[in-house]
Amino acid sequence: YTYNLRNKGPEDVIVRVIYCGICHSDLIQMRNEMGMSHYPMVPGHEVVGIVTELGSEVKKFKVGEHVGVGCIVGSCRKCGNCNESMEQYCSKRIWTYNDVNHDGTPTQGGFASSMVVDQMFVVRIPENLPLEQAAPLLCAGVTVYSPMKHFGMTEAGKRCGILGLGGVGHMGVKIAKAFGLHVTVISSSDKKKEEALEVLHADAYLVSKDAEKMQEAAESLDYILDTIPVAHPLEPYLSLLKTNGK
Ligand SMILES: [Zn+2]
Ligand SMILES: [Zn+2]
Repeated sequence: YTYNLRNKGPEDVIVRVIYCGICHSDLIQMRNEMGMSHYPMVPGHEVVGIVTELGSEVKKFKVGEHVGVGCIVGSCRKCGNCNESMEQYCSKRIWTYNDVNHDGTPTQGGFASSMVVDQMFVVRIPENLPLEQAAPLLCAGVTVYSPMKHFGMTEAGKRCGILGLGGVGHMGVKIAKAFGLHVTVISSSDKKKEEALEVLHADAYLVSKDAEKMQEAAESLDYILDTIPVAHPLEPYLSLLKTNGK
């Protein structure tokens, strides 16, 4: 599929895409599982690449720099949410793909050779971070990093439980360890124990079906990050939190 990039404005960055992660929501959109897909669609919202061109007003990036783009590429800039840097809650936010740009053209995502993105929604990637490893940070990574920062779940030495060990849970372990937390992976079986402890270097592993171990772990955690992607009861896990836990 071939399409023309939208015209570059003064605030835009043109990015040559090098890698793009695959998020489960890309599959949901591709298969129209939410009933809101428009085709032809170019998914991809864990985009990393290199700056090739800059609009006349862009000062914070240079040609050749490594950058990333996540799931939003625009917002109204005027509402309360935008004024508080919470553009993700703006009612006029623009999704990276399957949405409409300010100029009326469809947005197309990162499974492409290039993108034109407003500088406000472009982030710099450190030169020493391999680009292919940076890509999943743009969605899965920020999905855990953002609430941890927002709710102050970052105090080194505190005990953090990560519920579920899929794409997001795996990021949760890495980021929680980077904050210096003691990390317990909580999973329904012991299938992922080796991966959690040996590969991701979690500190402990708790099987939620083991009633005795769950009882022993009651009120032992300061924080819990729930990354289980299906509806499930919270009560068994809330009992693991200390009073005033997060
Ligand atoms: Zn995603
Ligand atoms: Zn807004």
